[in-house]
This record gives sequence, structure tokens and C-alpha cells, in this order.
Amino acid sequence: MIVVTFLGTVSGIPSKERSHPAIVLEYFGEKKDTILFDCGEGTQKQLMLSGISFMDISKIFITHWHADHFAGLIGLIQTMNLEKRKEELKIFGPEAEKFVSDIVDLGYFGLRFPITATNVPFEGEEIVKIDEAEDYEIYCVPVLHTVPAVAYSFQEKDKWSIDVEKLKKLGLKRGSWLRKLKKYGKVRIKGMEVKLEEVARIKKGLKVVYTGDTKPCDNVIRIARNSDLLIHDSTFLEEEEGKAHADVKQAAQVAKEAEVKELILTHISRRYKDASILEKEARKVFPNTRVAYDFMRIKLK
Ligand SMILES: [Zn+2]
Repeated sequence: MIVVTFLGTVSGIPSKERSHPAIVLEYFGEKKDTILFDCGEGTQKQLMLSGISFMDISKIFITHWHADHFAGLIGLIQTMNLEKRKEELKIFGPEAEKFVSDIVDLGYFGLRFPITATNVPFEGEEIVKIDEAEDYEIYCVPVLHTVPAVAYSFQEKDKWSIDVEKLKKLGLKRGSWLRKLKKYGKVRIKGMEVKLEEVARIKKGLKVVYTGDTKPCDNVIRIARNSDLLIHDSTFLEEEEGKAHADVKQAAQVAKEAEVKELILTHISRRYKDASILEKEARKVFPNTRVAYDFMRIKLK
């Protein structure tokens, strides 16, 4: 299961209702993992209000180094330090090594836990795997913004699930031998060779894609293909000349072309007090669309 929590959903300037961009993805697999995408100003306070522990965050993925997407890192890292964090924190982003080292060198920090910064590619068309855990992989692709910027994809690995009826037909029972079968693809038991595909079926992993700030682009369509959730920049109701952001219809068009299951519009300009108008426009192009709000939670199973 995946739970996505929106901590901040505004563009450039925050409002009373909307905080700067930050999205938490909690993955409930064999092992629970808590991942943060972007970390705008106020993220640590929003985390507290959401009930999610900031100490649980293992990795942070920054889409680009505009202050509304990273300024919260300074306070969040400081708080982790004061709370005597020992575990490593991994931070990914375009040019992350430079910016993370700048942040850590800011003021008299006295950092006492390890932070690893990883640069991710931000040019070209290739979708690149940048991180892998037991149950999931993270990919990124460059997007169209005014500075180096990327979109991220969280991809749960496909899993084999055992079909008990098929086991019964072969006169077999559940047991620790199934672990071996999942690992090696086949196993000898009761004098016969059993192949994984004979007693199990594949369960497709969940996929969540977050664009950060971008104009609509082919790279996003490709990385978002068939995702369960696409979280897309949709700063404006109508495209604004000279602004490197998408409007709601453009975001909806991307969702349609990528054949995603659900679209969430975020990075909403503070000028829209009533977001329902954005939702209405987007739904004309892609019906399964919602506008994000601070503390919105989405469960995916
Ligand atoms: Zn932004």
C-alpha cells in the first residue's frame, strides 16, 4: 500500500490555505519507507500537523532548486540534527551535491548525522533509474522549466502472488519452500519440479509520478505512462506567456496521453481561492482529476 500526503500545494508565494510544495509518499511493504518529494518552506511544521514523523524520512527527492521547492530543507535538517538523528539521509536532485553542501555549510550547523547527496541527470530524454530498494525503484527524467529540473517516478516492483488453488491441484501446501521458489523461479519438491508461473500470478506494482515545475512535455508523458497517480504542475487556469508552468488543460492532456489512472493537479497559484474551477476545466479533458489541497491524502492499493 502507498499513502501520498500533500503537505504543500501552492506555487511561488504561499497563502493562508496553501503551503510551499512538499509531498510525502509512505510505502507499506515488507519494510515501511517514508520518502519526501520537494521540501518547500514550512515542510517540517506541515509534517508535524500531518502526524507523519520527520525522523522516518529516509530519502528526499528535490525536483529543482527554486526556493519554494527546497527552502524547508534548512530547518528540517537542523531539526533532525537537534533530535539526534543517527541514520543516513539521502537527498537526490539535479546538482544536488553542490546545493546540499551549500545548505549544510549555511550558518553554524554542526551536522552530526550523515547526508548523502546524489546528482541526477537533468538533460536529454532518457528515463534513468536513480535509486532502488527491495520493493521499489525510483526513476527520473528531465522536464521543461527555467532551471535544471526533473520529474520523478516511484515504481513498486511487480510481485508474484501465490495461488492457493493451483497449489492444491498439485497436491502442495504453503510453506517456507515458497520463499525459495520466489527467489529462484523454480524448485524441486515432492519429486517434481515446480515453476513459479505454475502456482503464482504476477501482481503489477503501483506507480506514482510527480512532475515538479514544468511546461507540458513528452518526457513527462513517457515517464507517466500507465501510472496509477500522476501529480502534475498546474499553476494556471490558462497558459501564461513566458511562464515555465503548465495550465490545467495541458496537465489533463498529458494525463490523457500517458493513460494514467488518476490526475492530481498541484502547484496552484494563490490567485485561485476556489480551486473547483480548475478541476472543472481539467475534467473536460481528463475526467478523473482532482485538485490537491494541503493535507490531502490518497491511498493506493
Ligand atoms: Zn515552484
